[in-house]
Amino acid sequence: MRSNTLRIAAIPGDGIGAEVIGAGCRVLEALAAAHPDLGIDIERFDWGSERYLATGAMMPADGLDALRGHDAILFGSAGDPRVPDHISLWGLRLAICQGLDQYANVRPARLLPGIRSPLADVTPEALDWVIVRENSEGEYSGAGGRVHRGFPHEVGLDVSVMTRTGVERIMRFALELARSRPRKKLTVVTKSNAQRHAMVMWDEVFQAVRDEYRDVECDRMLVDAMTTRMVLKPESIDVVVASNLHADILSDLAAALTGSLGIAPTGNINPDPAIPSMFEPIHGSAFDIMGKGVANPIGTFWSIVMMLDHLGLKDASAELMAAIERLTASGKTLTPDLGGSAGTEAVTDALIKAL
Ligand code: NAD
Ligand code: MN
Repeated sequence: MRSNTLRIAAIPGDGIGAEVIGAGCRVLEALAAAHPDLGIDIERFDWGSERYLATGAMMPADGLDALRGHDAILFGSAGDPRVPDHISLWGLRLAICQGLDQYANVRPARLLPGIRSPLADVTPEALDWVIVRENSEGEYSGAGGRVHRGFPHEVGLDVSVMTRTGVERIMRFALELARSRPRKKLTVVTKSNAQRHAMVMWDEVFQAVRDEYRDVECDRMLVDAMTTRMVLKPESIDVVVASNLHADILSDLAAALTGSLGIAPTGNINPDPAIPSMFEPIHGSAFDIMGKGVANPIGTFWSIVMMLDHLGLKDASAELMAAIERLTASGKTLTPDLGGSAGTEAVTDALIKAL
């Protein structure tokens, strides 16, 4: 059961993660101040690469238990030039997503008012997608290994693991989401022409549940063809479901098409309300701009919108989204990635004012 006060675990992580989560916490506190009935209690965790360099672990061994008592998690990013990426990723973000079985990664991609897409003439109505990424298995299952290490005949294996349970639950999640949206359309991304085992099962499981959702209009697309459709026929797309790797790539493309990687949000969802879900901007630690105070915090603000919505706080969520849209529509206070000259703090001040 959820108490009246939201218990949020904030994990800034590395690089610009700390900058944008600091901004996000200010926005949450401003929201709470404007809503006497909305209590927000933020606990900050200093997990990340600094901790790894000092102790050998990105997070403590009992870290998941510390998170379980919270209503939701707000995450920045993991990645540091001094630590191999597979260590920082598996030691923190994937450890949380997999450990809490947050199996659906939900990534809205929408052209916000006032923001220019690199696609000529695309309108906000034409580019309004949600990409649903399988977040617990597939190509990022972690299964595999290296044999004959260092010898010329060394072998490296990353095994994509798909389970009927895992595929069925992500298909149902995507079909339910498509059903809840006005256009009720779903595109299932696959690569079953070349990957002839698990991807064929992926298609079959979709077909097996599809009949229960006759009101949803569905089509199927090979992942390579999907990239061209996103660029050439954006208006034909509504909800998209894809495997862990495919959706990872497609959603970065989607973020670029909506103006900048810096505005794109995501939620790692476990639909069980007793387990905290995790919300984060989709960008990484951005080594090239870290410490400069110019990171775009909108991806974090939009992730907070998703978090509030997930927690059932529809009014606060809608208010924050409207404030983000007023900010982008005015075009006055934006970071350099969106063609502006403002810093993270100035954008945060402007957003709080727009609230
Ligand atoms: P990145 O997202 O950090 O940066 C890609 C480009 O986008 C950079 O030019 C960066 O300056 C720009 N950018 C990203 N976020 C921005 C923002 N908020 N405002 C303005 N510009 C922004 O991706 P990368 O360079 O491939 O990865 C850097 C590190 O981050 C690596 O260690 C990687 O493993 C890690 N990473 C972590 C996550 C995560 O924790 N969820 C996601 C992606 C990458
Ligand atoms: Mn990615």
